[in-house]
Amino acid sequence: MIEIKNLHKSYPIGKDKLHVLKGLNLSIKEGEFVSIMGSSGSGKSTLLNILGLLDEHDEGEYILNGQVIQKLNEKKAAILRNKFLGFVFQSFNLINYKTALENVSLPLYYSGVGRKERQKIAMEYLEKVELGAWANHLPSEMSGGQKQRVAIARALVTQPKVILADEPTGALDSATSSAVMQILKDINKEGMTILVITHEEDIAEQTKRIVRLKDGIIMSDELQLQNA
Ligand code: ADP
Ligand code: MG
Repeated sequence: MIEIKNLHKSYPIGKDKLHVLKGLNLSIKEGEFVSIMGSSGSGKSTLLNILGLLDEHDEGEYILNGQVIQKLNEKKAAILRNKFLGFVFQSFNLINYKTALENVSLPLYYSGVGRKERQKIAMEYLEKVELGAWANHLPSEMSGGQKQRVAIARALVTQPKVILADEPTGALDSATSSAVMQILKDINKEGMTILVITHEEDIAEQTKRIVRLKDGIIMSDELQLQNA
């Protein structure tokens, strides 16, 4: 599903370069539930942005669902993102003046799905995260955990191949974090490939494989057989 080979990424800093990713090799198969662990500044978001086609790598190879990713223009990247990827962010990134249902149905609007059908499908996904009763509420009326569940429903609504979650529980207390992780476990059980980025050991331990990033390289990559 995701394959990277000798992946490098630097950021220009004046005349210098900050070499953040220094030759990563990683292969994630369909149905896996993987966490990428690393301390702040270790390059986790940089990697996720590349995997999510929000940024480009400098060197090496990235193959997403069999497609070699190279020098994509924004339009092509947007099409692939919409087709293959669902995103969940620490800050939820919901649209504040739209209801939960409208937020979840928005990706379907961009995919050209008609209004009636959009509402029906969006409602199914809201029910999946147990927020059917909250369909007509605004994000400001919801708790952090509820907002993140809306964001997960929104990520799922286009039936992506992979969910990419950047610190999905970073803004939540531990009880709420567990509830959000439980939803991710449930959708993984149904076959969804999930990649979670986190700096919290507790969160990583709930996934099926932990990849540790340090100083721009992969330090370890271990299956968690107790979660298999
Ligand atoms: P993490 O998500 O693990 O905290 P990041 O991938 O956000 O780490 O950042 C890795 C390093 O790259 C940090 O030193 C950060 O300051 C730097 N960095 C991130 N984005 C940029 C950017 N757009 N321009 C310059 N430096 C950046
Ligand atoms: Mg980050």
